[in-house]
Amino acid sequence: MTKPVALVTGAQRGIGAAIARKLGKAGFALAVAARSAEPLKAFAGELAAEGIEAEAFPCDVSDAAQVDAMFKAIQEKFGRLDAVVNNAGITRDGLLMRMKEEDWDAVLDINLKSTFLVSKAALRLILKSSQGRIVNISSVVGVTGNPGQCNYAASKAGMIGFTKAMAREYAGKGLCVNAVAPGFIESDMTGHLNEAQKTAALSAIPMGRMGTGDEIAEAVSFLVSPSAAYITGQVLCVDGGMAM
Ligand code: NAP
Repeated sequence: MTKPVALVTGAQRGIGAAIARKLGKAGFALAVAARSAEPLKAFAGELAAEGIEAEAFPCDVSDAAQVDAMFKAIQEKFGRLDAVVNNAGITRDGLLMRMKEEDWDAVLDINLKSTFLVSKAALRLILKSSQGRIVNISSVVGVTGNPGQCNYAASKAGMIGFTKAMAREYAGKGLCVNAVAPGFIESDMTGHLNEAQKTAALSAIPMGRMGTGDEIAEAVSFLVSPSAAYITGQVLCVDGGMAM
């Protein structure tokens, strides 16, 4: 494989799909991962029809055995890895008083433990790349906090700490590790909010509108490009000004 290869997790829809498409158009061959095998394969097929080389790797990224199997398959298919975007994520919102332990565990496992499992498993291949990049999709609420999201905010703040520690560990080896913190973005994750919740969220955005997956993909595309070779350990908020 002569092209650089990127793994995007949670790439079956929403922000992850926008990131995958953008990186594919920027010249990466793609490994796309998510749990739902059929829609994921259909998405890889859509990318292929657009001239982008893409292979689907159905995987629950919170499961260590599945992550290891995915990396073996990526090694066999592509033989190299240059960028990883840890984008898979879920919410299980609720006030702390009513938050169930299983909702805490699910969010921490899928958002934060997956980042550990995938980043660790990626090391062997990505350290061989001359321009290795890891981009962790955190959230503005990992910076600011948000009522009803103690589990989600903790997982996303954890991703920021993880990003900085990993960036320090591997800076000397040329691997750049950064986080992107999206604000309030149009996707299935925000699609279920009612009008009152959307109005409240919009009132907290200085730019007065929701963002798009494409706007997050632009930031990720920059961070994995040669132009960002001297940037590591940073958190780029793409949030219409929410975190300032
Ligand atoms: P989304 O539309 O719900 O998509 C989430 C993606 O993650 C899906 O492809 C889903 O596919 C995958 N996924 C979930 N659990 C997984 C698991 N255990 N293993 C593998 N894949 C898994 O969400 P989104 O809005 O695009 O969000 C993408 C990322 O951006 C998330 O990390 C989210 O926290 C973050 N973010 C979103 C917003 C926003 O406003 N939307 C704001 C800040 C940050 P399967 O269900 O098939 O696995």
